[in-house]
Amino acid sequence: MMNETITEKPDFDFENFTFGVQATDQMLVAKYENGSWSNFQIGPVKNISLSPLAMCLHYGQTVFEGLKAFKTVDGKVNIFRLESHFKRMNRSLERMAMPPLPASCFIDGIRELVNKESHWVIDDPEYALYIRPFAIATENKLGVDASHEYLFMVVLSPLKAYYNRPLRVLVETTYIRSARGGAGAAKNGGNYGASLLPQQKAKQAGFDQIIWLDASEKKYIEESGTMNIMFILNGKTLLTPALSDSILDGITRDSILKLAPELGLEVEERTIQITEILDRVGAGEKVEAFGVGTAAVISPIKEISYKDELFETYVEEDAVMYRIKNKLSEIRRGISPDHFGWSD
Ligand code: PMP
Repeated sequence: MMNETITEKPDFDFENFTFGVQATDQMLVAKYENGSWSNFQIGPVKNISLSPLAMCLHYGQTVFEGLKAFKTVDGKVNIFRLESHFKRMNRSLERMAMPPLPASCFIDGIRELVNKESHWVIDDPEYALYIRPFAIATENKLGVDASHEYLFMVVLSPLKAYYNRPLRVLVETTYIRSARGGAGAAKNGGNYGASLLPQQKAKQAGFDQIIWLDASEKKYIEESGTMNIMFILNGKTLLTPALSDSILDGITRDSILKLAPELGLEVEERTIQITEILDRVGAGEKVEAFGVGTAAVISPIKEISYKDELFETYVEEDAVMYRIKNKLSEIRRGISPDHFGWSD
C-alpha cells in the first residue's frame, strides 16, 4: 500500500465521463530486444509508431491485463491483487509464445506509475483507477512466427462504478468462446475479437450478454460475456464452473471463492450443465446468477434464455450476491480487514 502525498485533483470531470476513452497523463513503456526486457520508462502518454509489417498487426500476439487502484478510507492508494495479475499476465504471455515479464517491470513499474498518477485515484467509493497493462509483438516480418521484439505498456484510465442493472442473457448455442486446448485461459486480444459478432447478434435479439457453453458438447456452462459466472443456490451454496484451459482464471472469481466461507456460503467448483440450472429455476428453487470480473465486480442476471425458453433468476435486494459485492468493496477500501494480503 502506498502512502505518498496525493497531489491536486486533475482537471477532469470525474462526474461525467465515458470509461476507457481518457488516459491519465503518464504511461509506462518497456522494450524486449535481443532476448531481454530493457528498463522501463515512465513518461507522458503519447502515440506509438509501428511499421505496417509489425507482427502484432497480423498474427495476434497481443496480451493484456485489467486491474484497479482504489482510494482507501485512510487516504492510501490500494492496487488490488497486483501480484495475481502479474502471474496471470505471464501465463497469458507464455500461451502466446511471448517472453515473460520480470516483476521489476510489471509490479514495480505499475506501483511507480500509479504512485506518480495517484492524484487520479480520487476519494469516492464509486470510483477506481483502471490499470491496463499490455504487450504486443513489434518485430517487422510478414512470415508467421513468434516475434523476437515486443513492447510492454501500461496506461491508466478513470472508471466509475455504475449501477449494475440486472441483465437478460442468452445461452449461446451456435458460437463458442474457446475450446479445450485453445487459448481461452489467456487474455489475448483474439479471444475478444472473436466474441464480438455473437455479442452483437445477442444484442440485436434483445439480450445484454451471452452465456458461453463448452465447445464440444455445448452442454456445460463456461463464462458470461467477458466475466466468469457464478450461481447461488437457495442462498446457501456458491456454485461456479471449475477452471480449465478454456476458462479465464478470473481474479474476482478467485477473491469471491476465498471470501465465500466468511459469508457463510458453501462452495462448489465443478462442471455445471446448463439444464441443471434451468431445471432448478423451473422447480422453484431460489437461484441467483451473476457475472464476476474486475470492471463491474458483480453483474446480476435476471433472465436466462435457452433455446427460446426464458428462465427468471433471483435479483431481489436481499440477494447474497450484493453482500459479496459489498464485502469485496469494503476490503478494497480498507474498511474490512484484508486477511488475504490482497492490498498492495
Ligand atoms: N473472463 C474473461 C473472458 C475476462 O476477460 C475476464 C476479465 N475481464 C474475466 C473472466 C474476469 O477476470 P477478472 O476477475 O480477473 O477481471
